[in-house]
Amino acid sequence: MTDHPQWGQATLAIRTGHQRTAEGEHSEPIFPTSSFVFDSAQEAAARFSGDEPGNIYSRFTNPTVAVFEQRLAAMEGGESCVATASGMAAILATCMGLLEHGDHIVSSRSIFGSTNILFSKYLERFGITTTYVDLKEAAAWNEAIRPNTRMLFLETPSNPMTEVGDIAALSVIAHQSNAILVVDNCFCTPVLQRPLELGADVVVHSATKYIDGQGRCMGGAVVGDKQLVGEEVYGVLRTAGPTMSAFNAWVFLKGLETLQLRMRQHCENAQKLAGWLERHPRIEHVYYPGLDSHPQKALMQQQQTAAGGILSFEPVGGQQAAWRIMDNQQLMSITANLGDTKTTITHPGSTTHARLTDEERVVAGITPGLVRIGVGLENVEDLIADLDVALKK
Ligand SMILES: *Cc1c(COP(=O)(O)O)cnc(C)c1O
Repeated sequence: MTDHPQWGQATLAIRTGHQRTAEGEHSEPIFPTSSFVFDSAQEAAARFSGDEPGNIYSRFTNPTVAVFEQRLAAMEGGESCVATASGMAAILATCMGLLEHGDHIVSSRSIFGSTNILFSKYLERFGITTTYVDLKEAAAWNEAIRPNTRMLFLETPSNPMTEVGDIAALSVIAHQSNAILVVDNCFCTPVLQRPLELGADVVVHSATKYIDGQGRCMGGAVVGDKQLVGEEVYGVLRTAGPTMSAFNAWVFLKGLETLQLRMRQHCENAQKLAGWLERHPRIEHVYYPGLDSHPQKALMQQQQTAAGGILSFEPVGGQQAAWRIMDNQQLMSITANLGDTKTTITHPGSTTHARLTDEERVVAGITPGLVRIGVGLENVEDLIADLDVALKK
């Protein structure tokens, strides 16, 4: 069956990439093999020289991984996709493939903690420097650009404050400076936001989150054009080795098949929970881009199809109240993961953002009372009833 780029997202997610084998299997097969066999010495030579396409070794290509890559590329609207062992491996491979000694990154200040350490501690050792700016202030991005700036990097909406970055505006700033714009699209997935259409050059993912959707496997991906991703990032992957396993790729490609349905329900549950929390007398503030009180709701609606599954709130009473609510609720899992069918609840100030200095936390808006919820797929009425009991204790 041939693939059709004009298909809708759900059809692309369900039908792209599967070449049925002679067994006639309906569901995609898993190919757990490290190497592939050649018919002759001459064929082996032709594969290695690149004269003949085909599999050689699973660090380079694997048929199950390739189905996942083709599906995600189709959904993001990109020419090429390479799958990686984790979300962080995707970001590392992107930087190694597209930057060199002496280059400069301008990055949003509100990025995943490990991304921040990768830039500030490890890339710095190899002569790549980073300047951090406020996600919302386009002027600050412009001012931070230097002659050697080669990459702009952001996540939107941000974690845990749900601030929204203007992808189209930042892509203009990047391209005026001969830099590329990289967007970590983990929180939205291509179902809610397609950064390449808005002007981004490269999209990175942690497949560990919504793409898996049930908290089972680690994985990541990089999507973009043939040159940047298909050549440069792929070259790092096949050489340095943080590739995705065939089994994980199978879990993720099955995850993509239900992604559209799941994202719709994550968003619906989050919207209801955010609205209920906002009206609760023991809640001081709720951060969720789908609320009228969110200062960037209009921008979110311009670039996303729905507001997402992550919200944060601040209860009356600071850290003591936050911890009391977390300990008294019974349904949500106290864990740092997100994008799971199971709702997760986190205290960023003492976990994901504990490494920041007090001053950095103030700049990031992470108050001692802040609580983040990765809203899952349980009945939202049950989540509300459970939180209501916890808030009254
Ligand atoms: C989890 C996460 C990552 C890192 O992904 P891993 O799969 O844990 O390596 C990167 N970016 C964002 C926004 C994340 O939430």
